[in-house]
This record gives sequence, structure tokens and C-alpha cells, in this order.
Amino acid sequence: MLKVDIISEIEIPDPVLEHIENTLSEIAPTEVNIVEDIDLTEIVEKFRDASRNQVNAEKLLNTLREVLGVREFNNKMVIVIDDDGYVPGLNFVFGVAELCGNIAIVFTHRLKISYLGDTVDIGKLFYERLTKEILHEIGHTLCLEHCPNKRCVMSFSNTIYDVDYKEAKYCKTCIEKARSVISWKKF
Ligand SMILES: [Zn+2]
Ligand SMILES: [Zn+2]
Repeated sequence: MLKVDIISEIEIPDPVLEHIENTLSEIAPTEVNIVEDIDLTEIVEKFRDASRNQVNAEKLLNTLREVLGVREFNNKMVIVIDDDGYVPGLNFVFGVAELCGNIAIVFTHRLKISYLGDTVDIGKLFYERLTKEILHEIGHTLCLEHCPNKRCVMSFSNTIYDVDYKEAKYCKTCIEKARSVISWKKF
């Protein structure tokens, strides 16, 4: 059983959680839970670069790994940060994750931006984008790398157009790859 714990600074509607659970269940039986008793604010603020007003995703990921300690391969942790993230060398990232690891981080800020550059309604479109980015980063923790299929949720998104173009599901090739990783990891 794949266990996904989500710690989020924003409320995530049940249909989003159900979609994530159902999509991952194509790879392996999955249970998604929201973890509510962890306050991330302090730890996130520690990694804010004041000059660019963005959170250093790489450093945050490394710290979370230390805080959370060693976990089983099937136990994934997704952190949803209501902020803007970057890694050195990139203007921004939608998210980051440990390849074949446990921890994934998704940042909401860029998912709220419309094609015109203003802010979209926090409604259907935003939650679709959030769903895709959560699935994408969890995919990395399942050893999936970027997929050349632009419709696949594992394709690399450079812009919000790319995020909107891809579907909130894994292509057949990615499903097969993740299944073989899981059978190899034997959980
Ligand atoms: Zn990626
Ligand atoms: Zn794919």
C-alpha cells in the first residue's frame, strides 16, 4: 500500500484528494491522508530569500528530510506551500521532490497566475493545476523522471501553459515504470 501524507498550508478539497488517490491507485493501492497537526510557517520562513521574496526549495527539502527522518519507500510526504519557490539557477519552480525518495514539495503561487499575468480564481483551474503538480512530484518519489509525452503528468513544465496542457494522470509508460519500481522495492 502506498501511503501519501499531505501537509498543506491551504485547504485541499476532497475531490482533489480523491483524484490523487484514484490516479495513484493505477500504480499501486493508495491511501491519501491530510496531516493537520504540523505547522510549517516557521520552517518555511527560515528559507525565504528576502531579496527575491521566494523560498529556497532545495534547502527546505533537505531540512524536511532531516526533520522527518528515514521513512519506508512506500510512505510519501507531500508539503504544499502557499508561496513561491525557487532553486538556485531557476527563476521559480512549481515543486521539487526527491527522486526515489519520500518528500515532495509543491508551491502554489505560480499556479494562481492566469495567462494575462494576473491572479486566477482559486477555483477549478487552480485545483486542476495543484492536482497535476502534486501527482508530478509524487511521481518523482516513485523514481519517475520527466516524460517526453507532453500530455503525461510527468512531462516537465516550464510554464503554466505546459501545466495546463498536460493531463492529471500518468501515461501508460510511466505507470508501467512505477509499477516495476514498486515490485522491485517489494512493499
Ligand atoms: Zn519534475
Ligand atoms: Zn509519462
